[in-house]
Amino acid sequence: MSFKIALIYGDGVGPEVIKAALEVLEALDFDAEYVEVKAGYEYWRRTGKPMEDGALDVIRSCRCVLKGPLMTPPGTDSYRSVTVMLRQTLDLYANVRPFKSFGKASKKIDMVIVRENTEDLYSGIEYRLGSTAITLRVVSERASKRIARFAFELAKREGRRKVAVVHKANVMKESCGLFRSAFFEVAKLYPEIQAEEIVVDSAAYRIVVAPETLDVLVTPNMFGDILSDVAAGVVGSLGLAPSANIGDGYAMFEPVHGTAPDIAGKGVANPIASILSAAMMLSYLGDAKRARAIEVAVDELIAEGRVLTPDMGGTAKTVDVAREVARRAREALTSFR
Ligand code: ATP
Repeated sequence: MSFKIALIYGDGVGPEVIKAALEVLEALDFDAEYVEVKAGYEYWRRTGKPMEDGALDVIRSCRCVLKGPLMTPPGTDSYRSVTVMLRQTLDLYANVRPFKSFGKASKKIDMVIVRENTEDLYSGIEYRLGSTAITLRVVSERASKRIARFAFELAKREGRRKVAVVHKANVMKESCGLFRSAFFEVAKLYPEIQAEEIVVDSAAYRIVVAPETLDVLVTPNMFGDILSDVAAGVVGSLGLAPSANIGDGYAMFEPVHGTAPDIAGKGVANPIASILSAAMMLSYLGDAKRARAIEVAVDELIAEGRVLTPDMGGTAKTVDVAREVARRAREALTSFR
């Protein structure tokens, strides 16, 4: 069956890493029709529009989106984040960010951050009162229960044993308090899974010093955003961290990292985060074998340590890593048959 997939190449290193992901999908003979949707900061600078006309209709006509990072520079009043807008408009309420240690890493890390993706301080409700700026933190019972349920269902599906809610309810008694109580309410429906709580600052510390003790973390939007970069650093590089934005019946896949303007255009961006995001897309589409083939290829590549980009201590280019993962993934897929 051929899948229709919307492609947003993104800004900065986006086109380089998304092309790498496409090369791997092609090597696996994944049957897809890609429809490019132009969007992002560069597009806005050229046209005055954040996305091309009719973009949302095209996106909705596809099965899902594969997307590179999009730039949202601070201080640009008239330009708002296209990524946040897509997550909210398409109601992609669960941001799933798995962090695994690959290759011969000393600590065995296998954790997933499940981040609420539509509310919190990213509600977009902000204003000035004289010389004071106010951003509203919106946390609803509906969204909090929905994300807690999603995290427990993910844990059940993946045979995971613990889900921890990350909060700061001792200080933000209303917003974090509601997020926390909704979580424990939902936890009662999953007695076979251990429900825990971790205060956000302590979660940051544990991710750094004892990541192997963590399993599933469910977080409000902003905490999840920040903790993800901490976790990416602990597994070795932002260039290794994939993600999925999942709603009821639609999804968008993208690397956790941003546009990396410091290395854009140099051909040295690590494409693995985007390649693994494509693997998450394959799993979502029910193609577990091809997804697994990519994971095996990445694990082998990192264990061998020969073809790695500079962020991982290597000298390889983006295209070299893409070619090598594609070759190994194809071999792995053949061996599964
Ligand atoms: P943005 O404004 O788009 O968020 P940023 O530079 O603030 O960009 P990131 O793009 O996430 O944030 O980059 C943070 C650091 O991680 C940078 O030094 C960047 O070069 C590095 N980095 C990010 N992605 C990659 C990648 N795929 N490969 C190698 N290094 C990366």
